[in-house]
This record gives sequence, structure tokens and C-alpha cells, in this order.
Amino acid sequence: MSLDADIAENLNAVRARIGAAARRAGRQPDEITLIAVSKTFGTDHVRAAWDAGQPDFGENKVQEALQKISETPDIPIRWHLIGHLQTNKARRAALPFRCIHSVDSLELLRKIDDAAVEGGATPDILVQVDLAGETAKFGAPADAARRVVDAALGCRAARLAGLMLLPPWSDDQEQTRPWFARLRELREAWIAGGVPRDGLRHLSMGMSHDFEAAVEEGATMVRVGTAIFGKRTPATVTGA
Ligand SMILES: *Cc1c(COP(=O)(O)O)cnc(C)c1O
Repeated sequence: MSLDADIAENLNAVRARIGAAARRAGRQPDEITLIAVSKTFGTDHVRAAWDAGQPDFGENKVQEALQKISETPDIPIRWHLIGHLQTNKARRAALPFRCIHSVDSLELLRKIDDAAVEGGATPDILVQVDLAGETAKFGAPADAARRVVDAALGCRAARLAGLMLLPPWSDDQEQTRPWFARLRELREAWIAGGVPRDGLRHLSMGMSHDFEAAVEEGATMVRVGTAIFGKRTPATVTGA
């Protein structure tokens, strides 16, 4: 089969699985935004997915994303930055991305907001929470994440939209499910504690191997790469 047909078929299968998981949890399928994670793949893959009706794409590296954005000026893709963002790249990320999922410090938040004010953009911000205390990974522990949430409510241009989670890796979604439930519980506790619900409306959680559990536990955004575009190989990796 052709690249276009493969990607269209994979997208349909993922959408069907999201819909089934949503219905199992008594949710509406349209409450969940599928983000097609195109990292390491070229814009031929992005265009094939777009042509199959996919509007949201995720990238984890600013440089690689900017390259693809510059190669697709003719299509109004909603780009999401899902990977770690260094503070010295915040300026370049504030304008092209509709949503930045990886805000995990006050300094990063301020830099994004300053750049957004200057450039006239209003990016959505998700605060990345590290629930497992994985110090080698990014994300802020819950108490620090709460401080970022509170600060984000006072931003001038950046808009707080929710929380993001990258749980300890397991290929068994029953192992990651409890982390998804904990992020939802944290969100509910913060809303009960006074954070406006609208500012925490999104939970970005779930990848190719566990997005169904994530949807059952309340995800509103799932970030799916492999199940749409196939396995990433080192040879397809570009940028930094
Ligand atoms: C790569 C990546 C994904 C997608 O992973 P797949 O297993 O290919 O679906 C999701 N989230 C983040 C933060 C990623 O870096």
C-alpha cells in the first residue's frame, strides 16, 4: 500500500479505538483531541495525515518543528510542542505553537509569556507534572507544578489550558493507568481548591501503547506517533 493509504488506515483505526474507549467510560469521542506525533518523520507523512483529515500535530524538538512548519505554509495545521523546552528556546516556541505541553518552571512560563506578548500570540499552556518523582525526566513535582499553574493564571498572553503527564514507561497500559487516574485526581483537587476549571480543562496523557487507558481515565488530548506513522528509526531522526 502507499504511504497515504497506510497513514489514512492507521488514523482511522486509532480514531475508532479512541471512540470505543470514550464510550466505555461514558464519554463523548469528540471530547478527545488526537495529536499526531510526527517527530522524526518528514512533511510527506504530515501531509498524508492532513489529507486524511488530521489537523493537530505534535513535535518534541523546536528546531525540527520549525523546519516542518516552514515547509507547510499552505495548510493551517495546529502545532503542539510536546517535548522539553529549554528556556533559551522559549522565544522561538511562543509564536508558532498553538499549544505548549511541556511548561515545567516559572522561568520558562515567564519567557513564553513575554515572547507571546511581544509577538501578539496567545499560546495555550499545559503544565507538565512529574508525579513519579523521576528526577531524570522533565516535569515539575506536584507542589512546584501548582505554583506554575497559579502563575499561569496571571499571564498576559499565554493561556493556562491544563496539565500534561509522561508517566514512567511501561508497555502494559494497566501499569500506566494509575498515573493517569492520579493526574485526573490532582486536577480535581486543584479545581476544588480554587483553580478555575476552564484553566485545567485539558489532560494531555496517553501514547501509542496506552492511549485507551488514558482516555478511560479522562484524557482530553492523546499524543500518538507510532500507531499512526509506524516505528521511528534512527535514520529518520532529524534536527535537535
Ligand atoms: C514521542 C512522544 C509521544 C508519542 O509516542 P508514540 O509511542 O510513538 O505514540 C508522545 N508524547 C511525547 C512527549 C513524545 O515525546
